[in-house]
Parts: sequence; structure tokens; C-alpha cells
Amino acid sequence: MNLGLDGRTAIITGGASGIGAETARVFAAEGVRLALLDRDDEQLELVRKELAEITEVVAVPGDLSTGAGVTKAVTAALDALGGATDILINNVGQCRARAFDELSDDDWIGTFELNFLSAVRAARIVLPGMRERGRGSIVTNASDLARQPEEGPADYQVSKVALLSLTKSLALSEGPAVRVNAVAPGPVWTPLWTRPGGFAETLGDVHGRDAKAAVEHEMSKRQLPLGRMGTPDEVARVIAFLASDAASFTTGSVWGVDGGTVRGLL
Ligand code: NAD
Repeated sequence: MNLGLDGRTAIITGGASGIGAETARVFAAEGVRLALLDRDDEQLELVRKELAEITEVVAVPGDLSTGAGVTKAVTAALDALGGATDILINNVGQCRARAFDELSDDDWIGTFELNFLSAVRAARIVLPGMRERGRGSIVTNASDLARQPEEGPADYQVSKVALLSLTKSLALSEGPAVRVNAVAPGPVWTPLWTRPGGFAETLGDVHGRDAKAAVEHEMSKRQLPLGRMGTPDEVARVIAFLASDAASFTTGSVWGVDGGTVRGLL
């Protein structure tokens, strides 16, 4: 792809793994200068080293589940990129399968802090610079589960619905200078599923099956017309397109990257 992104700058939250790391790879190949934010220092350093061969990239380790953590990391990222950024990718998020009755108030709040408020807080910090320069693009990683919920995990799904509403709000308030869009990926095989305590294992706990059987059951319910899970690069390419001027008349939109799982028309 040549998306005309050469020389642009981007901040990616949750950039050490999965869809975030793959988006960093697509951007790096396009000549984007990067700041990658993540709490996994070791994995972050591996991605930084890999991409430093191709582009300017700074790694900013930190916990994005608190206001102080987001402020510190995003401010450091802006400093490293020269004071403002062209692009913000709100990608960080976590998903664990938990039955509704098991979710305490603290669990709900924890999910909202990371999945939703990290995006609010990051946008609040980068927007003044975008407004001042009269340009910017924000892409947020939501989920197909925001548009077509399953029986759970309720906390995760609701946090992703909030991201879609935030996307519309900001598209209206920040246009025409700043475009704000979201992707809604279907199931994508990443460490979110595979790591210990991740979605596959916790799905197995909820359904009383082993992780592999739980994933197979989940996929049979989703009935994906494309018949398989997605790969991180398949989402990353759509994120990069939306972030670029190739999508110059697109704002306030939600792009399904879901293998066709969403049955509704909107
Ligand atoms: P992933 O687990 O591979 O990557 C998430 C990254 O976020 C990791 O590097 C992790 O270290 C980082 N992270 C988690 N908590 C953090 C915290 N408190 N502070 C800083 N960093 C933190 O997951 P992924 O599948 O690439 O998911 C990325 C985004 O895509 C998430 O928002 C997820 O909800 C969304 N998504 C994923 C899928 C899927 O099936 N994988 C589907 C739809 C949407």
C-alpha cells in the first residue's frame, strides 16, 4: 500500500502485541514515525528494535489503565514526536470471559478504565495539538461485539459500545480538521486469546470446557461467512487506511473487519 503517510507521526496504545504491533508494522512500512505505548516492557522493546530498522520509533512503557498513567505516557510520546501527532490509534484493550454474576463493580470499572477511558484520556491530550495544526486522524479499535453482542462478556461489549459513541461525538465536535473513526474487528487470533488468563482460557472456565473446545464452540456460534478467525494484519491495514488521507471523506464511521459475522445492516 502507498497511503501517503510518509513522514507522518502516530501514537499507538497497546503497541507491543497483536493488532497494535501489526498496525505499527504497517505504519513503519509507510514511513510513519511512531510512539508505541504498552505496559509490557519486554515485548515493547522487541517491537521497537524490529521497527527501528525501518523508521523512527520510540517505546513508552506504562500502565494505561489509570488517568495518571495515560497522561504520563501520552505526554512523553508527544514530546518524543515533537509536540504533536498526526495520528492517534486507540488500540489498547483487554478481554476476559466472565459470567455476568461474577462481574463486580470493580471489574466493570477496571474494564472501562482500560478499554474506554484510556481512549478518552489519550484523545483529550492529543486533540489540542491537532486542532492547532488543523489536521489529525484518530482511529479507535472497538469490536464486532459492540454491534452484535453475545451473552458475554458484558463488561467488554458495553465498553466497546461506549467507544463507538465516543467516535461519533468526536467526529462531530472535531471536524473538519480532525477525522475520527473506529474499526470493529471480529475474532482475531492474537495473544488476547492465547496468553495465560486470556480470552480462550477464561472462555473455557465459563463454559466448563478446555480452552480449545471453548474457542471452537465460540466460533461455531459466530457463524463467520469467511469461515475463519482474522489475522492482526487484516485489521491493521484497515486501521492504516482510515488513518490516512486515502479516507479523507470518512469520519464518524465504524468499519467492520469481522469476516462478515455482523448480521445487521448498520
Ligand atoms: P493483545 O492482547 O495482543 O494486545 C493488547 C496490548 O495491550 C498488549 O500488548 C498488552 O500488553 C497491552 N495492554 C493491556 N493492558 C494494558 C495496560 N493496562 N496498560 C498498557 N498496555 C496494556 O490484544 P489484541 O487482540 O491485539 O487487541 C487489541 C485491541 O483489539 C483491543 O482493544 C481489543 O479489544 C480489540 N479487539 C480484539 C479482537 C480479537 O479477537 N483479538 C477483536 C475485536 C477487538
